[in-house]
Amino acid sequence: MRSNRIAMKFSVSALALAVSLGAHAVTDEDILNDQATTDDVVTNGMGLNGQRFSPLSTLNSSNVENLQPVWAFAFGGEKMRGQESQPMIKDGVMYVTASYSRVYAVDAMTGEEIWQYDARLPDGIMPCCDVINRGVALYDDKVIFGTLDAKLVALNKDTGKVVWIKKVADYQAGYSITAAPIIVNGKLITGVSGGEFGIVGKVEAYDPNTGEILWTRPTVEGHMGYVYRDGEAVENGISGGQAGLTWPGDMWQTGGAAPWLGGTYDASTDTLFFGTGNPAPWNSHLRPGDNLFSSSRLAIDPNDGSIKWHFQTTPHDGWDYDGVNEVISFDYEDDGEMVRAAATADRNGFFYVLNRENGDFIRGFPFVDEISWASGLDEDGRPIYTEDGRPGNPAELSGEQAGSVVARPAFLGGKNWMPMAYSQDTGLFYVPSNEWSMDIWNEAVSYKQGAAYLGAGFTIKPANEDFIGVLRAMDPRTGEEVWRYENTAPLWGGVMTTAGNLVFTGTPEGYLKAFDARTGEELYRFNTGSGVVGTPVTWEMNGEQYVSVASGWGGAVPLWGGEVARVVKDFNQGGMVWTFKLPSDRVASN
Ligand code: CA
Ligand code: CA
Repeated sequence: MRSNRIAMKFSVSALALAVSLGAHAVTDEDILNDQATTDDVVTNGMGLNGQRFSPLSTLNSSNVENLQPVWAFAFGGEKMRGQESQPMIKDGVMYVTASYSRVYAVDAMTGEEIWQYDARLPDGIMPCCDVINRGVALYDDKVIFGTLDAKLVALNKDTGKVVWIKKVADYQAGYSITAAPIIVNGKLITGVSGGEFGIVGKVEAYDPNTGEILWTRPTVEGHMGYVYRDGEAVENGISGGQAGLTWPGDMWQTGGAAPWLGGTYDASTDTLFFGTGNPAPWNSHLRPGDNLFSSSRLAIDPNDGSIKWHFQTTPHDGWDYDGVNEVISFDYEDDGEMVRAAATADRNGFFYVLNRENGDFIRGFPFVDEISWASGLDEDGRPIYTEDGRPGNPAELSGEQAGSVVARPAFLGGKNWMPMAYSQDTGLFYVPSNEWSMDIWNEAVSYKQGAAYLGAGFTIKPANEDFIGVLRAMDPRTGEEVWRYENTAPLWGGVMTTAGNLVFTGTPEGYLKAFDARTGEELYRFNTGSGVVGTPVTWEMNGEQYVSVASGWGGAVPLWGGEVARVVKDFNQGGMVWTFKLPSDRVASN
């Protein structure tokens, strides 16, 4: 009798648990509405369009000075290095990734760990630019992320146990995954990294429930795309253009163009936006031509992976400017007409406003103080190259570093991976940028699988004595810089803006900072103990507004930064996620 009752009790609570889990699964609707729902963050970008704008205003420019940390969670272990993750929040649980392909589920109220998953990585992984990870996707009862050995891993959101693992590409050929995948209408979409190793970039869709591939879209012209049915590539694949049009010989077979930063999605046009990295190798004299679709933005149909349009920011890229930076959809009024636009701030120093329905160039302007390699953009948005702006051809020169030029921005970019934010209130983009130049020269190189494929040497230098980083408020209608904040070290963290008239970002010096969105006045700073190169998020729980950010210095700057590395050499590594809110008696304070 007694044991029966216990058994009965157990099954009832198990049923209640199952029901509650089902009710709290992440749905396509949750993902599509993410920007408007303030009690969760279920997309990378705080909305699929990537605006990173929260409608919350409980925390605002009048009370942010009272913001206080409520908990900090350590990723632990001996593994530190760069922490570039954007946390996700669902039903009071935070899902956050860390360096070396680790994932954590943490109680968002207390900071207590629920589970941890460490990918078992092989010795031979080849990340170009630190062992970072930028975050997870959430779908149904799964937490899905990409690993440094180029796999997708789906975990159960309650237990952290593996549901499926899928190999996306061969890490021994130089592929890896560092971006957060995104979910669009039941499809899991990912890119790959590896442009410095002569891989062939690709964007792919998978079934998030099973890991089965649905379509593949190579991003180098000449390679065929395919839709898969029951695991088989459908014969009449989707063309990616003709081989040999914009590449010489067989260079397209190792052409790079890695879409390594992941993508965004615009529901109004049902379009994915992915950027692509440098053509391989860096030595542009080995590959005369535009080298499509490298250093471009691609508009991709999420149903079959076909390319709707492309816009190439740096044709025949000879500076590793890549073209991966995020494309943010936004609408604005021009002469009483609503313009469906998309904006992107390129490594090459230009900010572009495009028509997101067809890729037409609307306008472009520099968002950095100086650009050396191009004198401007023509009416189609194509750069006007300066004479002697391109590093010379080593086949025609002799001597060490022959043909070296000073190029500005440096290859780490006027802006690198760190996402900007767009405020629907101010109509401004908040762009984390850097002022630096480089000496760059070309060298002979030939392709060898799994080896660096650059054919270039370089040294990065700060452009000014007292600052490298500049957080800028840019008006996309005029190109005007409305305000700027200058930072000693290069900025490498993402930006978030809110309806509370606030802009948040982090600095390598360790600070989480908040600025007045209209004036740029610094209103808040808190030192997290290590450099902040993650991206902040905000959400609401029990009527209170929370802010979280990952802390842990690293990323590409200390590895590749040349003379800039000297500015940052004393910054300590770390690995934590910090969470803040207002003390309850200060919410209404002015
Ligand atoms: Ca939300
Ligand atoms: Ca690159």
